[in-house]
Amino acid sequence: MSENYDDQDIELEVDLESEEDTEDYEENTKKRDKDNDNEYEDVCYICHRPESRAGKMMRIPNNICICSDCMQKTFDSMNSSGFNMDDILNMNLGRMPNISMINLSDLQNMMPNNQRIKKKKPKEKAKQPKLDIKSIPAPHKIKASLDDYVVGQEQAKKIMSVAVYNHYKRVATDTMDDIEIEKSNMLMVGPTGSGKTYLVKTLARLLDVPLAITDATSLTEAGYIGDDIESVVSKLLAAAGNDVEKAEHGIIFIDEIDKIAKKKNTNQRDVSGESVQQGMLKLLEGAEVEVPVGATSKNAMVPMTTVNTKNILFVCGGAFPDLENVIKERLNKRSSMGFKADLKDKYDGEENLLQQVTVEDMKNFGMIPEFVGRLPILFSLEALTEDMLVKILKEPKNAIIKQYQKLLSLDEVDLEFEEEALHVIARKAKEKEVGARALRAIIEDFMLDIMYEVPKDDNIGKVVITKEYIEKTGGPVIMMRGCPVIEEKTLA
Ligand code: ADP
Repeated sequence: MSENYDDQDIELEVDLESEEDTEDYEENTKKRDKDNDNEYEDVCYICHRPESRAGKMMRIPNNICICSDCMQKTFDSMNSSGFNMDDILNMNLGRMPNISMINLSDLQNMMPNNQRIKKKKPKEKAKQPKLDIKSIPAPHKIKASLDDYVVGQEQAKKIMSVAVYNHYKRVATDTMDDIEIEKSNMLMVGPTGSGKTYLVKTLARLLDVPLAITDATSLTEAGYIGDDIESVVSKLLAAAGNDVEKAEHGIIFIDEIDKIAKKKNTNQRDVSGESVQQGMLKLLEGAEVEVPVGATSKNAMVPMTTVNTKNILFVCGGAFPDLENVIKERLNKRSSMGFKADLKDKYDGEENLLQQVTVEDMKNFGMIPEFVGRLPILFSLEALTEDMLVKILKEPKNAIIKQYQKLLSLDEVDLEFEEEALHVIARKAKEKEVGARALRAIIEDFMLDIMYEVPKDDNIGKVVITKEYIEKTGGPVIMMRGCPVIEEKTLA
């Protein structure tokens, strides 16, 4: 067999020598090398798959590429046909029995460029985050960035900006030896759809830190059906692309935190309420936790890693539906003493009672003191008013009507909303009592016809959404291109 190899070796060399004599060949090779580095993907000589599909290629002499699958198959088939492993390891790939008889590079060079696949251009580098956590900007700058997206909620935005500023300053300096700066974990109270999740999401995006959003209702004490409490850290790790260091600077948002309030008058073990609060204490404070990678519960098959939650910012949010009564009760108690006692229903009509929330109210609601104590920044969001809803429709950078305007502008059609129409939409949304979340559903409902009909007619140049159209008593105003005549149409 060794003789055989030697023969092939000579043949190969002769082959190459004769090729290299020609100028054409050299030019071709140079061009190919250049192309390979720049524009074109390598293609597996055996299975013809490009490197984007077959993975990294192995190059063997004469500019031949073989993907790892085919290489493996070749080894396997050699193995089963009597080669032993030592032969294979010692083997020079250029001398493989069946392919060294011809000069393979000839074949590859023959492939015209139009049959080769261009490499995908590497995606442009991720955009610089607007706010850099290493040189964390002043709170007013953080708030200004939030203002671009979140309407109203001035107090909440201010409190969050300062809290985030302090938190990341603490992370960046890491000087906690003498004066320990407390973590700025937050507890957010606000009606549904008032922007709790949206605020946190926007903040995480602006700072370019990973964010995990979890529902407290899915959490149970370890060992019970449901997600372990530490699964929130696993989620953050996944959001950080399994980069532990990145995850350790991330934000964890736990929604529906009011659902884990201590249950009153129960003598059963409260595995999804008080126990979850207890279990979260060490996470909130900062601890080394061992978490499963790529799963929400620990089992033998899942790899584990250790994450330190010391620098993770925890934000808890909830609607706390009965909290207003708790606050009222406290306020009434305070004012109903002495001769100047107020009437019991004094606070009944007050709109934003939640703004007056205190730690005491939280405890009365059923949150355990240790838990509230670890979320030192307590604040509330306002219920959205009609005017705020109108602003949400049109002002944020990615406002819903801006999105529709953009879509129609691609068809070169202008879209306009009458101010009154926006108010009708806001009023309708308010009736649904799910905050700003209702806006999209309403707007999508009547924009469907517009989006369906307008592209049919190339002559349409502008559409004005009227109050009547929203109230279903009339149609939108359709204006034709280059024609000042206004035509009122009822679509569909
Ligand atoms: P929740 O308070 O229940 O967590 P979300 O934050 O999920 O409510 O809000 C739902 C949607 O409503 C968001 O995706 C966002 O588009 C919109 N939204 C709510 N509040 C505001 C606000 N203040 N400014 C701009 N958009 C808002």
